[in-house]
This record gives sequence, structure tokens and C-alpha cells, in this order.
Amino acid sequence: MQTPFQNMIFPTLTAAHRRSIMIAFITVLCVYYFVTISPEGGYLSSKFLSTKQSISKDSASVLNAAQMEETLFDLAPSSAESKPPHSLGNIIPHDSSTPHRANATLVMLARNTDIAGVIWSVEQLEAKFNRKFNYPWVFLNDEPFSYEFKRRVKVLTNADVSFGLIPHETWVQPSWIDEERARRGRNMLTKEGVIYGGCASSLVISYRNMCRFNSGFFFHHELLTPYKWYWRVEPDVRFYCDLEYDPFVFMENHDKIYGFTISMPELESTITSLWSVVKEFISDHPEYLSPNNSMDFISEDAGDSYNTCHFWSNFEIADMDFWRSEAYTKFFNYLENTGGFYYERWGDAPVHSIAAALFARKDQLHFFKDIGYKHAEFSHCPQGRQWREGHCSCNPNDSFDFAQNSCLRHFMRLDDGWIFN
Ligand code: GDP
Ligand code: MN
Repeated sequence: MQTPFQNMIFPTLTAAHRRSIMIAFITVLCVYYFVTISPEGGYLSSKFLSTKQSISKDSASVLNAAQMEETLFDLAPSSAESKPPHSLGNIIPHDSSTPHRANATLVMLARNTDIAGVIWSVEQLEAKFNRKFNYPWVFLNDEPFSYEFKRRVKVLTNADVSFGLIPHETWVQPSWIDEERARRGRNMLTKEGVIYGGCASSLVISYRNMCRFNSGFFFHHELLTPYKWYWRVEPDVRFYCDLEYDPFVFMENHDKIYGFTISMPELESTITSLWSVVKEFISDHPEYLSPNNSMDFISEDAGDSYNTCHFWSNFEIADMDFWRSEAYTKFFNYLENTGGFYYERWGDAPVHSIAAALFARKDQLHFFKDIGYKHAEFSHCPQGRQWREGHCSCNPNDSFDFAQNSCLRHFMRLDDGWIFN
């Protein structure tokens, strides 16, 4: 029997046809309900939609790794070909807002009494460079740092700061050193009026301890072994310019091992026998000499004598793996066994510089001409565009670079194609 409604809609169809059409209509309604309106279907579709939206924002790193994995895992087909969730790590979007960082630290050797100069140096380096880069700081001392020292320093930076004690045996004069001979050496330098040479003060011995520690041990300190690169900073220095790039990443990308700002000659009387010991080492171990070395920086006569030129090591941006290498380890032990750190007054600057000049390629040494820096009365001030763009506060006419005593010209002659600016 037909209702008036059925007759109105399906006026010409048979009852069987009408029933089939009604069933089809109801089926379409049910499917529509499940896909768009029911809690399950609605969840699926809204999840899919939000995933598409999230992925389309992609490289701005909207998704963290866990979210990404979760989302993609939900979408993955459940066939046997689908990849296990752990492989999804490969498609985590690269976060371009986090540039590559080097395995590096800023390092300062200091006494508790150096606190004012420490604050002065840290404050500047933080403002000019590290506030943007947040490299950790490591402070080392042969005595425990005071609570007050740590309190005053930690507040200067957002970066991690650690304070380390230097192991006694890597600091004090070894017991096998002939103290009588060492004393004669100190007295001789006193007569010549050499700074830290040999007056009665205990500073004279601690200066030698410091030079030996910086030459052979700092990079083995447990707070430094996790790192490859370091920037050595001293109390009371000045940093004149903004540094907008990462010098550690620069070193890494250009296969450098040693960076400096100032170079000068050493006092001859503090290293009387150093070069003869170096020459002995080289004749015993010619295999460590780089074929493309910088002998012309440290010698005027192809290695017969040392011109005493060295990179001033109160500023160093360098690779500790170079100091940890077989060549440098054997070199340092060779020097150490002569007792020259105590019988004379071998500085870590000539020791580092000679090794870098001889065992590395000359293109692995880098003059950071864009870093304005001052230690004691000597400064390096960038020139021209680098001075302007670095907003440098130094006077570009007041730079040690080409002063009579500077060794920069010896460095520049290593490379005929060297351009100053
Ligand atoms: P100079 O630059 O050659 O005149 O030597 P400095 O007196 O500036 O010392 C070089 C670095 O070693 C600085 O960072 C000093 O703070 C540090 N230093 C020097 N002597 C000592 C010492 O006896 N103990 C500690 N803990 N640090 C020292
Ligand atoms: Mn100093």
C-alpha cells in the first residue's frame, strides 16, 4: 500500500523499486554519519586535518620529535610494509633556527684574588659574543675557588659555568727538578731584570707552574676533556668589537687548529736552550714535521735558529685535540724532561707556537683580525670594514699589528696571497 507521501515522491515507481531506493538513501545517510559526525569518524578526520596543518608549518619546527612520531604513526597504514616507528627519526624536520654549534668552551685560569679582572673580562666577552652563543665557561685554579668568587662570576652569564681545581701534580714543580740548579736559573734572570724572572716572591715559581700547566696539562683537566675547542681568556683583558659569527664553527669548517690576535718576540734569556731541544726533538722525530709547516714564521734561516716569534697565548682559540695528539704529547714530554720550564722560564706561548708552526699545516693557523683585543699594553684593533661593522671601540691607528716588534709580518710572509683586509 502506498502512502500519499510515497505517491508524491515516487509517483511512477513500483513498490520494489521504491524500497531499493529508500535502502540506498538510508545507507548513504549512515555512511555520512560515521565519517563526519560520530565521535570515531570525527576524531579521524580532525586528526588528519590537524596533521596536515602541522606538517605544512614544517621547518619552523612546530612538531617536536615525539609529536611527529606519534602523528605519523597514527597515519601509517597497518600493512606489513609500514615502517616501524623508530625509523621515523629520519624525517624530523631540520630546525633552521638552531645553527650548528661546536664542541667548545671558554676557559680561564685565575686566582681568587683576580676576581675584579675576571669580572671585567667575562662581562665584555659575554656582551660582545657569548650572550648570543652561550658557550659554557670553565674556570680553573690551583686552589679551591671561594664561594664569593663563584657567586660573582655565575651571575654574569646564562651559560653553564664550572669551577675546577687543578690536580697538584700538574701544577707544582716536580720533585725530580734540581732545585739548586733552578734557583741559579732564577737568580740569573733576576740580574737581567726579567719579569717573573727570579725575585724572592713566590710568584716566580707559580709563574713557571702556570706556564708548564698551560703548555702540557690544561687540556687533560677533567672539566676540559669533554671539549675539543677552547677560547682562552685572561683576567683584565679587553674585547673591543662585536662578534656576530661563531669562531669555533669557523675553525671547524676551515680545518684550522690555532687562532691568535697578537704575535711578538719572546725574551731571549727566558728560553736560552729551548730551540736546541726543539731541534733535537725534530731530528729524533722527523715524522711529526708537517711538510707544509710555518718554519718561516719562527725562523729567519730555515730552522737553524729561532727568531723567538710566538703567538701571544693569553688569547687563543684552538683545538685541544691538537695538544692531545701523539706529536704534541711526545713534544711536551721531551721538553718537560729537560726541566727547562724551571731551569729557565719557558713560556707556554713559545711552546704552543713552535708546535703549531711545525706540526700543523700553515693554512691551519688563523689570524683573527676581526677580533679587537687588548692584554697589558698591547692591542690588536681591526681595520676598515671589520672595524666599522664590529662597532669596535678601539682606535684603528693604535694596533700592535705592524709595530716594530710585532711578528705579524713574519706570519704574513707565509702566504704570498695574504690580504690584510
Ligand atoms: P702574563 O700574562 O704572562 O703576565 O701572566 P698572568 O699573571 O696574566 O697569568 C696568566 C694567567 O694565569 C692568568 O689567567 C692568571 O690569572 C693565571 N695565573 C697566573 N699565576 C697563577 C697562579 O698562581 N694561580 C692561578 N690559579 N692562576 C694563575
Ligand atoms: Mn696576563
